[in-house]
Amino acid sequence: MKQIYRLLPGLNCGECGCANCMQFAAALAAGQVEASGCPFLLQDRFKGRIMAINEILSGLAIEEEGRAVEAGTLVKEEIVGLIDHLAADFVLSPLEGETSCKEDLHIFDRNIQVEIGDIIRYRPWGCPVTHFAEILEVNHGIITVHIVGPLHRIGHDMKWTDAGICMVVAFEGLVTKGDVPDVGATVRFLPEHCMMGKVHSGVIVHSEGIRVRIEGIDLKVW
Ligand code: SF4
Repeated sequence: MKQIYRLLPGLNCGECGCANCMQFAAALAAGQVEASGCPFLLQDRFKGRIMAINEILSGLAIEEEGRAVEAGTLVKEEIVGLIDHLAADFVLSPLEGETSCKEDLHIFDRNIQVEIGDIIRYRPWGCPVTHFAEILEVNHGIITVHIVGPLHRIGHDMKWTDAGICMVVAFEGLVTKGDVPDVGATVRFLPEHCMMGKVHSGVIVHSEGIRVRIEGIDLKVW
């Protein structure tokens, strides 16, 4: 996957429909998109890159087929993070009709006043990526948000409040791939909207069917 990523333009512009080049590389590796989906790869300055990517992809397909034959069966689909290649127990997707998983955040700076409907810019503690989010609820020092950024998705004229570094304290969403965990379990999960495709860890504090709430969120995976 990293080999493919290195061949992409690295503009993180979202023209291909993915949040950034890393997500596009993952989608290519998963066979969900074609390299020509990045319009810049069709330009002369990136000549030869599509062919190089396709060569890597055909090598990946042969490797995968070889592993399945070795095991004598189809390989169970693994859920693996893009950055550190750690295995996750499940993918967390948004609740029905919602655009991203719900996140609960704590803003460290007490001077920042926000209201429902505001857009904030923040960096989750431990994550290198700046996020933009819309506030859904404000309750006892915790705000509940939906992720709406990066910036090019919400428009450069959108007004937002800089919330600085925030602690992500909880996620809420649906388990759509992998094993549905029990309450109390320490889990590794991949939030569907995570721009880095990074596996997170946490503890299940509530579940109703495939709907789960995870607290004690950590980007160091336990
Ligand atoms: S279109 Fe996608 S892959 Fe191409 S530079 Fe922009 S984000 Fe990266």
